[in-house]
Amino acid sequence: PAPDNVLEINNIEVVYNKVVQALRGLSLVVPRGQIVALLGSNGAGKSTTLKAVSGLLALERGEVESGSIVFKGAPTAGRTPHALVRAGLFHVMEGRRVFEDLTVEENLVAATYALTGRKGAGGAKADFDTVYEYFPRLHERRKGLAGYLSGGEQQMLAIGRALIAAPGLILLDEPSLGLSPKLVEDIFGIIARINAERGTSMLLVEQNATVALAVAHTGYIMENGKIVIDGPAERLASDPDVREFYLGMG
Ligand code: ATP
Repeated sequence: PAPDNVLEINNIEVVYNKVVQALRGLSLVVPRGQIVALLGSNGAGKSTTLKAVSGLLALERGEVESGSIVFKGAPTAGRTPHALVRAGLFHVMEGRRVFEDLTVEENLVAATYALTGRKGAGGAKADFDTVYEYFPRLHERRKGLAGYLSGGEQQMLAIGRALIAAPGLILLDEPSLGLSPKLVEDIFGIIARINAERGTSMLLVEQNATVALAVAHTGYIMENGKIVIDGPAERLASDPDVREFYLGMG
């Protein structure tokens, strides 16, 4: 049977360049089918946590020095980021890195090839339809260069690519970054729909605690490389002490 937790992070320590310790014994779980919000101030180690899970840490000379990360019941240690994507773990990085010189649809074609190994548009059509169903705006702009999309549209494209991988777990790094309140609301509405309709689990890093806790089932708050508080999202959002001391919401 599939494990109850799609992701388990057990007591990891992460060090950059062999000297800068970014995570100090961090543990968390993402139950299957849930959205888990990972919150905390700048530099707490939220992005580092996502990079440790996807394996992209290695690109920045970072290393998981102890502890373990278990995805769908199997340890991730020794597996490449590419192998983890094929296994259903997709990392939407901060800053929505899309191919600016390709059209929207070409970005999706590239994603299909890179993520599934399938060539040509035939088998990909159904995948594209799914992306366009969640993001009708991308359908309108499908012939346009991705570099000319607005910040919000690029974020949609970055999340749309994740849908092509049909992942069991999406790691989302700051989807609200630089977006207007209206677009933040739109994007988070779509994130909630994808979770509800497709059962995709998500680990969501956000500065905007209010919107993140509104869509999440569970929340974790980080400080200085480890978790300081966790609990049901509703409870964290309504606890006055949590709001004042950890989320800066007074
Ligand atoms: P932010 O919201 O500002 O991105 P964060 O909670 O995501 O903050 P991280 O980016 O994970 O925090 O950074 C955690 C710590 O690790 C910080 O002290 C940061 O300076 C350090 N760090 C992050 N990336 C690197 C790197 N590539 N090399 C060295 N140190 C790094």
